[in-house]
Amino acid sequence: MSEVSLKHIQAIDIHAHPYVANSEPYTLEEFVRTLSLAVIPNQIPKHYVQTKKQPFPGTNMWIQLLIQRLSRFLTCEPTLEQVVKHRNIEAVDFKKYTRKLFQDANITGVVADFGYPTPKLSKKSYADLCGARIWEIHRIESVMVDLRKEGYSFGEFIEKYREDLNESLKKEGVVGLKSIIAYRSGLEIMEMNEQAAKEQYEEFQSNERAQVKAFRDYCLHIAMEECTKAYKVMHIHTGIGDGEVILPKASPSFLIEMLRDKKYSETKVHLVHGGYPWIEEAAFIVSILPNVYMDISLQNPFAGHGVKRILDQVFEFAPFDKVMYGSDAFTVPEMNWLGVHLFKECFEQVLNSWVKADYMDSETAQTIGEMVLYRNFENVYRKQIKEAVK
Ligand SMILES: [Zn+2]
Repeated sequence: MSEVSLKHIQAIDIHAHPYVANSEPYTLEEFVRTLSLAVIPNQIPKHYVQTKKQPFPGTNMWIQLLIQRLSRFLTCEPTLEQVVKHRNIEAVDFKKYTRKLFQDANITGVVADFGYPTPKLSKKSYADLCGARIWEIHRIESVMVDLRKEGYSFGEFIEKYREDLNESLKKEGVVGLKSIIAYRSGLEIMEMNEQAAKEQYEEFQSNERAQVKAFRDYCLHIAMEECTKAYKVMHIHTGIGDGEVILPKASPSFLIEMLRDKKYSETKVHLVHGGYPWIEEAAFIVSILPNVYMDISLQNPFAGHGVKRILDQVFEFAPFDKVMYGSDAFTVPEMNWLGVHLFKECFEQVLNSWVKADYMDSETAQTIGEMVLYRNFENVYRKQIKEAVK
């Protein structure tokens, strides 16, 4: 019986962010900080005693894995010092280096969230940098923040906001909208309440980060409506993220009332990051709601060795055609690169264990691997969207 092998299978990264070259070569500390989800500088206490072979302060398993794997790619010793040294040399020609990483991992397309970093980077130059096809999701909070400065009345704001979403969704290559409401007021979305939204508008005008839950919930409903009309996909950040996320309200379970609402029964929703660490809840949600999908970005690769456990776990409930590959790469192309390699390494082990346990034959297992890597994306985003729009 042949073993499952995903080595030569292309990958579509369903959720990642663009970046540009670092202007100066990285120091060890800067490189580690760049790799960290914490986004805050690593604080090394004074008089910190490090023994030989002790990992660099603040590093965790994902960084350890990256050093180990990247050292092979760069043909150097698997130490942070050597990896950073060789990376700095290779990345002098950043485009060449990025493309080499993308080709090595066979990444043929990325659905990019240009809402981070700010100011917004150009789609054209990101596509040129990595040499892959780029699709876009349009972040609603960026639109809200921009319109806030115009001094509109509430009514005018809503009109312009809706117009912007409508226009953006018409653009070629824009596959949907994205919301980071989990970072602002949480995922427990209340019903549309125009009066309550209006009452909070002034506070939002004076502070773009204000919680203003009724206002944000109202704006999310509008985005859901516009996605429904345009047959495109509403991406919602679920689960952990950087340090600012409202963790007690970030589980995808909070979305269920809204997702079950009859008026959204035809709306395609994508649970970004699969709600990690509430991945089983996301898996259950996509199993009961026909138009809801999820990806495994962020947890892959940042959960390190946990990726194998996660992949086994997500398919306890999630249908095979509801889960997509993603990385959430946000600062360097090594994130896109390790994302694919770690995913393939872990998923091959999981798929082979299913074959060994006689849950399926190896061709079926191989096909499931390909579905998660790119076929599910092709199906939902390329075929279904195109057909619906026709
Ligand atoms: Zn992201």
